[in-house]
Amino acid sequence: MNHFMDINNKKIAIIGLRESGLRSAKLANYLGARVFGSDLSESIDVSNNAMKLMTENHIPTETGIHTSKIFEADFWIISPGISKNSKIILKAKKHSIPIYSELEFSSWYTKSPIIAITGSNGKTTTSLLLLEIIKKKYNNSVVAGNIGIPFSKFVLEELINPVEDRFYILEVSSFQLEFIKNFKPKVSIYTNISPDHLDRHKTMDEYVSMKLRMIENMNKSGFIIYKSNDKTLKGKFENSNLNTIPIDVYSTQNQYYVKDNFLYKSNEKILKMENFKLIGEHNYLNLIAALTCSSLFNIPIEKAKEAIYDFSYIEHRQELVTIKNNISYINDSKATNIESVISAIKTYKKPTVILIGGYNKDSKFQLLLPHIKTSTIKYIICFGDAGKLIKTALGDAVRSFLCKDLNSAVMKASKLAIPGDIILLSPGCASFDEFKNFEERGNYFKKLISTLTKYD
Ligand code: ADP
Repeated sequence: MNHFMDINNKKIAIIGLRESGLRSAKLANYLGARVFGSDLSESIDVSNNAMKLMTENHIPTETGIHTSKIFEADFWIISPGISKNSKIILKAKKHSIPIYSELEFSSWYTKSPIIAITGSNGKTTTSLLLLEIIKKKYNNSVVAGNIGIPFSKFVLEELINPVEDRFYILEVSSFQLEFIKNFKPKVSIYTNISPDHLDRHKTMDEYVSMKLRMIENMNKSGFIIYKSNDKTLKGKFENSNLNTIPIDVYSTQNQYYVKDNFLYKSNEKILKMENFKLIGEHNYLNLIAALTCSSLFNIPIEKAKEAIYDFSYIEHRQELVTIKNNISYINDSKATNIESVISAIKTYKKPTVILIGGYNKDSKFQLLLPHIKTSTIKYIICFGDAGKLIKTALGDAVRSFLCKDLNSAVMKASKLAIPGDIILLSPGCASFDEFKNFEERGNYFKKLISTLTKYD
């Protein structure tokens, strides 16, 4: 347990009533607090959650407004969607109201060890892979956090029905770290750091400093696993006096590395890479991150191998949707920043029509240029809100086209592709210009593909 706080009878305002707000309200209520929920939005999800809190737990809520009642609180639990620079936070500071993230709050009420995974890309893949490996020994382990299942949901379940043998594998975003205080993982994993979310964090320094908050309470009793050929991470951790463990796909001096298509543990060949279903070097790194972590807890390698063999692709991440008329359709809707598009470009070796576009996050699309020039990409379809910007940045690399939305981008791509090609949706942008989230965008892409292939 990081820090225990008795909140019996304390007044707690939950600001933001999406999934993490709903679950932290329920946890606080269970612990005897006087909870009040408030959200500026009146969306269906928010209204449903407000209704659930009122009917299931008699927790008063308000939606579509923040009234002054939110300032009558001992502290706030804040949604990761609300930036630390937003007006409401500045107002809370004036009222001297302490603010905590759901991650921080939940961590006060569990003694189970926490493995926290962050990075600009690879968090979900590494978290899910590690979960399968860890479960071979600690079978009540769970994955939570940014992946979509709030930490507070499991912590409440654990308080009601105590469990042994649990590790919390938490996927952690920079947003969730803005309001931590005592949060202290047993292991922290940093997969990489590249520019992302600069629309919110404004500068790269600010983004990196938020990511580094994850380890601010760690000491020599914990471990930090980091990608050593990431410039930023190397700079931060190489000479650290904490227990840092560098990882890299090909460094033979590390515990795990890949050589001649085999994964090695020290000098021993442990598995043929073709038996690992995820492709691309970036996924080898995710695998090594998960194995390096599981070694700290003595998961037998034979057990870990079973988990690795069984692990298959994750939806919306370089997902092969179908092959029709010898054209492969790949859904990489979760590629929401530049670095993840670079991973996709490096993965595929066949002639490729790539679809890039969506909601603009102030990304530097020109960083893709050197990778595109040395790749097998033959056409770029730019689409959506950021389409024009992308076409201007990449127009010279190969032939490019501008389409207004994903639908017309897919239609254009299907006209251009010939047998043997790949059509790859790796948008490098958030999805909010057309969709609720990356899942909805990926599903829409898949639906378009199925209608396309039906009639051709
Ligand atoms: P996250 O949870 O950090 O967004 P995901 O595992 O969901 O990461 O993958 C998001 C995108 O990044 C996908 O397009 C995936 O192919 C790519 N990706 C996954 N792992 C890595 C990595 N280690 N380095 C770079 N890109 C990666």
